[in-house]
Amino acid sequence: MTPVAQARVDLGALRHNLARARVEAPRARVMAIIKADAYGHGMVRVARALHDADAFGVARLEEALSLREAGVTQPIVLLEGVLDAAQLSAAAHRDVSLVVHHAAQAELIEHAAENMPPVKIWLKLDSGMHRLGFSPAEIPPIAQRLRHSKKVIGPLRFMTHLACADERSDPATLRQIEVFQSALTGIEGERSIANSAGILGWPQTHADWVRPGIMLYGVSPFPDDDAEAQDLRPVMTLSSRLIALRQNKKGDAIGYGGSYICPRDMLVGVAAIGYGDGYPRHAQTGTPVLVNGRRAPLIGRVSMDMITVDLSAQPEAKAGDPVVLWGEGLAVEEVARCASTISYELLCGVARRVTFNES
Ligand SMILES: *Cc1c(COP(=O)(O)O)cnc(C)c1O
Repeated sequence: MTPVAQARVDLGALRHNLARARVEAPRARVMAIIKADAYGHGMVRVARALHDADAFGVARLEEALSLREAGVTQPIVLLEGVLDAAQLSAAAHRDVSLVVHHAAQAELIEHAAENMPPVKIWLKLDSGMHRLGFSPAEIPPIAQRLRHSKKVIGPLRFMTHLACADERSDPATLRQIEVFQSALTGIEGERSIANSAGILGWPQTHADWVRPGIMLYGVSPFPDDDAEAQDLRPVMTLSSRLIALRQNKKGDAIGYGGSYICPRDMLVGVAAIGYGDGYPRHAQTGTPVLVNGRRAPLIGRVSMDMITVDLSAQPEAKAGDPVVLWGEGLAVEEVARCASTISYELLCGVARRVTFNES
């Protein structure tokens, strides 16, 4: 029995995309970002496929612990750090490196129990995103304190995050680089600035470590530039099948709210995918899908389990035929634009009902 709605994860494409990050930033080490279940692709599967990454980055402690549970031995960096002593202890015992972005986290570490193993630390500087991190003035004293703590092991490392790097001409990125570099003048330690957009668009952000996320999954971080232009290969292909076809009459209203009125007699296909699978409910009429490998426009509202598609151009289509929602042959970026969202959200949102397999 073949499941109807499937997400195929192409591990060869994933590895190709990691290699792309290395080619772009040849002197940097790579922290592969696999938070949010590896952007919806399956965190453990992705970590195993990317075994030659120099480290993995995750957002939450639970993610780091399940990687250790699965036998992942590479360095793991907890990008949001820890919130209390219990989290700190769990991270320390599993050799999870911590980002420290707030004074309370430094205090937790300094006051940790005697028997807790020491932790490795990335200090986060706020260079202009104003979300997480210490201000430039706070960095020297906090670095000094942590260097002297018995609960910290290894050299301190330093990172910051870019807010606008996907806009290639936005001067905010240059300002962020300048703030980061001048705050760290005279302070020793490895540095990391670049996300995917930094890697592909801002070579001056490469530093000692790069942190690719979305590009690993074959998606361009730039709104004006597709993945193919960056030689990135799509990793996830979301597909389903046609379950019904009907010849509708001019004037027929289709689906919930009757929002789509057939402008002529037309063949309409029903595909088994909907917002219950993570297909975006706000995908508008005209959003492309591939039926038998050929583009056909979505029409009417997306339901929980189904969508309707204009098959006027494919009179030979029949129930059971394959439908691709995004991936191979149809960029998720394009679907995201048609649904007024970003590819990150679509990839992260694929529901558990969908059967994942890998190739
Ligand atoms: C998510 C994240 C990244 C990866 O960003 P992409 O835009 O997906 O490349 C890098 N660094 C940090 C701190 C992040 O949270």
